[in-house]
Amino acid sequence: MPRQRQPDWERDEWLLALDFYLRHQGAPLPGKRSAEVKELSNKLRSLRGSLPGLLPLPESFRNPAGVEMQLYQFVGFDPSNELKGLRPTRLAREIWDVYAGDAARVSKIAARIVEMSGANFSIPSAESLGVSEALEGRVLTYEHVRRERNPKLTRKKKEKFQDEHEGRLFCEVCAFDYERRYGERGRGFIEAHHTRALADLPRKGTRIRLEDLVLLCANCHRMIHRTRPWLTTSQLGNIIANP
Ligand SMILES: [Zn+2]
Ligand SMILES: [Zn+2]
Repeated sequence: MPRQRQPDWERDEWLLALDFYLRHQGAPLPGKRSAEVKELSNKLRSLRGSLPGLLPLPESFRNPAGVEMQLYQFVGFDPSNELKGLRPTRLAREIWDVYAGDAARVSKIAARIVEMSGANFSIPSAESLGVSEALEGRVLTYEHVRRERNPKLTRKKKEKFQDEHEGRLFCEVCAFDYERRYGERGRGFIEAHHTRALADLPRKGTRIRLEDLVLLCANCHRMIHRTRPWLTTSQLGNIIANP
């Protein structure tokens, strides 16, 4: 069989690697023969079971030697480490710049990614979901979209909103009202957006609270997810107020 090129690392994988790196910062980095790097290698392999393509995984995929090498990309950015690092990829650089100063957040995100990714289940790309992939990676991007498109939950949210607004439904950022604009055809139409930071997504199996959803028109919702980092609704509100 021809040797397969190792696929590029995804954002989720870099986040797991950065979490590992930060937890060992200030001490010698565990090497490829260590139990720690083996454990990280296993985590990356099982995460990959949730991403499309490449099943069954070749044995060389994210093996400890390869993982050790990638960890050295962070060494290159790390002013507290005097070893010479590897030439960084764009994605490793971005993840480092955004997260290296916040080990606690990376650790939460990494834990969520591992928790939310079930093996042998293909997680769609952000592109196919119509959003830009969040800084927090593909697994949590999918979780965000999946939760806010949960029909039962959005129906409850709409009902509650209508009870509080004389039966009307409108965008909580720009006030667009589908029924006013489109008449009968627009009645009952609005999207829900989940406002929790992805690192704080409720654990698998826990209920999503209606308070964590806001109702948005399709335009506002797309603008929030159009590029990284995703905007908060108040950031979007500010843009509309001062374009
Ligand atoms: Zn709107
Ligand atoms: Zn959303």
